[in-house]
Amino acid sequence: MGKIAKNLGLYLILIVLVVSMVNMFLTPTQAPQTYIELSYSKFLSELEEGRVSVLQIRNNTTPGESSSVVLRGELRNGDKFLSYGVDAEVIASEAARKGAIVTIEPPLKTSWWVTIVSSLFPTLLLIGVWVFFIYNMQGGGGKVMSFARSKAKMFMDNRGKVTFADVAGCEEAKEELQEVIHFLKDPSKFSRLGARVPKGVLMLGPPGTGKTLLARAAAGEAEVPFFSVSGSDFVEMFVGVGAARVRDLFEQARKHQPCLVFMDEIDAVGRHRGAGLGGGHDEREQTLNQILVELDGFDSSTSTILIAATNRPDILDPALLRPGRFDRHIVVDRPDVKGREAILQVHVKGKKMASDVDLGVLARRTPGLVGADLENLINEAALLAARRDKENIGMDEMEEGIERVMAGPERRSRLISDRERNIIAHHEVGHALVAKKLPDCDPIHKISIVPRGHAALGYTLQLPDEDRFLVSRSEMLNKISILLSGRAAEEIVFGDVTSGAANDLERATKTARQMVMELGMSDRLGLVRLGHKEEEIFLGRDIVEDRNYSEEVACAIDQEIRAIIDSCYAKAKEILGENRDVIERVTAVLIEREVLDGDEFDALLRGETLPPIDGTAKAEPAAAGVDLSKGEAADFTA
Ligand code: ADP
Ligand code: MG
Ligand code: ZN
Repeated sequence: MGKIAKNLGLYLILIVLVVSMVNMFLTPTQAPQTYIELSYSKFLSELEEGRVSVLQIRNNTTPGESSSVVLRGELRNGDKFLSYGVDAEVIASEAARKGAIVTIEPPLKTSWWVTIVSSLFPTLLLIGVWVFFIYNMQGGGGKVMSFARSKAKMFMDNRGKVTFADVAGCEEAKEELQEVIHFLKDPSKFSRLGARVPKGVLMLGPPGTGKTLLARAAAGEAEVPFFSVSGSDFVEMFVGVGAARVRDLFEQARKHQPCLVFMDEIDAVGRHRGAGLGGGHDEREQTLNQILVELDGFDSSTSTILIAATNRPDILDPALLRPGRFDRHIVVDRPDVKGREAILQVHVKGKKMASDVDLGVLARRTPGLVGADLENLINEAALLAARRDKENIGMDEMEEGIERVMAGPERRSRLISDRERNIIAHHEVGHALVAKKLPDCDPIHKISIVPRGHAALGYTLQLPDEDRFLVSRSEMLNKISILLSGRAAEEIVFGDVTSGAANDLERATKTARQMVMELGMSDRLGLVRLGHKEEEIFLGRDIVEDRNYSEEVACAIDQEIRAIIDSCYAKAKEILGENRDVIERVTAVLIEREVLDGDEFDALLRGETLPPIDGTAKAEPAAAGVDLSKGEAADFTA
């Protein structure tokens, strides 16, 4: 809750207190119990008969209201009385005539402002509560009516800011951005020649590849003001607020030209119009329309450049991508080996690394990881080194960091029964053995039955030697066989199967479906792209846009997927059936040691026995976790 919202709450409570106190003091206090209350007629008769000795008259009558005169006094017998009557003057003169001591008190009147405040109080309270909630909803900040202000953060001075040196592994993207930077540095050079400079640059790429970082670096390089705003900042409860914010953002930008406006996660507002479930996209559409209007308003004298980033270009509204709008696309892809090495290089700067750390090796072991993962990996390694009281970060910690990032931290503290460990070990050895026996498979890096993360009970880690961009049909079939071989091992060895293969089956099915529907790898269905790419509900286009094939084809797809799965499963079972003795031998060692690396696994396959475990490092007493319902065996093939 913002500070202002808190203050507001305080003020509210204060107001309530003050008003109730004022009310308390100013309401006429009730007469003490010692008074006897007389009816007006009784009072008149007492007065008539001269029994009133003292009388105080207070005329509370206000103009336009029914009269109210408070009469207080004492009877001759000593009784105090209280009465209410009308016509103060008549009573006063009558009482004086009868020999009573008469005092006339000034009318008790609440001052006008108290009257106003107390009558307005409920309204004020409502307004207060409303404002209070608005502030809470907005997370505080700003003046009361600042909805329409854009929430852009402006970074004006670029000292200590990010530069291109902090971004590695995306050279093409940097080059593309260079042009933008040249323009921002000297807009006149371009306008003199009448060149049309892109106004909108869209950066596309998976999460964590450094899009946000690149945009900030571009601003740092160009040394111009940098407005950063996230798409979700425009999404508000009230219709029109988002659009007003966009307007305000561009107004500010115009004042600071040349400058760079960065809209992160633009998919939050730039989604296909008319998409999603239910109605009520008015707010988002208005915001998007406003962005388009502002972009169209750029002319040759404008030297503002809008950079947007998204990891869901597929759901963006086509209007955003039209020429003249976000017409320059920069793809920021997952880094390759060299890129990963360079990124590691950037992030080990300022960290104490041991001399045995070979970033090249680490880069080769981390296919598929993006910049954010690599940064995380190094951080994990540093934390580990600190926990181990080491002087510097060694290769061991880095290796452990990779596994943590890829599969979550080890969880040795969960107990797994011997029976289950036996099953899990057979399952994992099944994966590893089939991966070894099938041709052209990625080498085994590690087999483990130490649980990791929240779901994996054991895992077999295969790492490719190099980055892959193409996958052949036979490789995909092998992958399915490997995925299914854990289950196959369970069936062959125990004659029964467990829920542990759930994740394997899911991934195998997905791969098979992809082969049939997207990649034209099924002879029966041929080279046809079937169906649309699955869209997430809420994110993508309308969900009604779906099948582009007939009922018969749907049936054939299912049969074909079944056929692929069945034949791959048969192949896995065949390989494992021929190697029963090897399975048992490797499994026994795995249960003892809990972890086998690739070399140890190879040695076991050659029939060698492993040297006894040195020291304490590896096999600590068995402890692991059970969560079979979630499925186990994360077989990490990048
Ligand atoms: P994105 O916006 O694409 O999701 P970010 O720019 O937020 O990714 O990246 C998150 C973090 O990961 C960055 O702050 C940076 O530390 C690190 N990172 C990502 N990509 C790179 C890269 N190419 N070079 C250096 N660091 C990177
Ligand atoms: Mg980002
Ligand atoms: Zn498995």
